[in-house]
Amino acid sequence: MNLPSRIECAVRRAVATHDGPMCAYVYDLGALRAHARRLVSTLPERCRLFYAIKANSDPSILRTLSGLVSGFEVASIGEAREAREAKASIPIMFGGPGKTDDELAAAIRLGIQTLHVESLHELRRAQYIAARLNQQVPVLLRVNIRGALPTSTLRMGGGATQFGLDEADVPEAIALAQASPQSLLRGFHFHSVSNNLDAASHVALIRDYLRRAEHWARVFGLTVDCINAGGGIGVNYGGTQQQFDWLAFVQGLKEVVEGKGFVQDVSILFECGRYLTAFCGYYAAEVLDLKRNHGKAFAIVRGGTHHCRLPASWQHSQPFTVLPVDSWSPPISRPEIRGEAITIAGQLCTPKDILARDCLIDRVRVGDIIVFHLVGAYGWSISHHNFLSHPHPARLYVDEGEIEMAKVGVSGMMDGTSS
Ligand SMILES: *Cc1c(COP(=O)(O)O)cnc(C)c1O
Repeated sequence: MNLPSRIECAVRRAVATHDGPMCAYVYDLGALRAHARRLVSTLPERCRLFYAIKANSDPSILRTLSGLVSGFEVASIGEAREAREAKASIPIMFGGPGKTDDELAAAIRLGIQTLHVESLHELRRAQYIAARLNQQVPVLLRVNIRGALPTSTLRMGGGATQFGLDEADVPEAIALAQASPQSLLRGFHFHSVSNNLDAASHVALIRDYLRRAEHWARVFGLTVDCINAGGGIGVNYGGTQQQFDWLAFVQGLKEVVEGKGFVQDVSILFECGRYLTAFCGYYAAEVLDLKRNHGKAFAIVRGGTHHCRLPASWQHSQPFTVLPVDSWSPPISRPEIRGEAITIAGQLCTPKDILARDCLIDRVRVGDIIVFHLVGAYGWSISHHNFLSHPHPARLYVDEGEIEMAKVGVSGMMDGTSS
């Protein structure tokens, strides 16, 4: 994959100013801003884009997105606080299984836009807590739908999972929501798949959500003003192949929202994580060692899956670029591999610490930097940072011509993040 020159610049500057082997996340905030602007500006009317911050809640990323998207989706009260720190007035939708009483109370006090209810018991608790606070809580019922879903990497619905209300329980949930002045039922929430790469099937999925919501609205006499279609738009980690066809998606969506009847009165909300931030993030790691074992070539880098668990979690090779670093000072020979498939491993003492497997490279030397692409979402945020107590990576931010060398510390010993 192509490495943008400003990313290369940032990495080279970090190499030059670092003591010891270099390891850093690089976030391109300018590219993130341009990407988010394009998504928001091409969405049809009555469609709104929110950011699911669990994909990456780095404060600079949240600040960059806070002025562009319609709000943030959070799945814990910790995330709600991070959202409000980025922007005090940001609209918040609160979802996720296993919300505690304290979280429900704090969310109601924060004035969240919607609570995504995951079970009948959670709805009763939310009503009870809202009554104690003398407030009304706006809710969407999260539904785990029955029926076929598009091909995708992860599935949260369409079968037995811990998420949402079984479709069979929807009538009871609606009756419960309507019976109490403490809850205002605004509509339904669906987040059934993650990493769907096919625009046409994603449009069809949304059409299906709307059909179900319209049915419930008609049968139960509901005024539905909002349908949350979740996230789940995919990123192709294969590197060179096609990405999700956003323009085809918004074109299909336009045809859906231009329909008559029910759809004319509802907002369709999206809460994307991966598709918003994946592209803006890079993980750069210096090659510490090269070797051969049982006929295969290995590169060991500073860092590993404790910084970037995504490829291990999904059992894929993270796409990467080898950035050659020509300077070499030690008076010993410099190991090098040319024109061969290599496996890139980290510093952890587990065979699962693999970032890319059997990938053909032109040349790699000890001291070169491997820059992994597409790690702006579910990279650092899902990783087990303190396993083996290695230092955390630096974080660099590139923004329209500027490189902010934030937190490049001596010998790469970083504070890490809040976690
Ligand atoms: C994780 C999550 C999202 C974001 O999913 P992506 O696949 O990253 O777009 C949206 N909604 C809910 C409820 C989630 O749990």
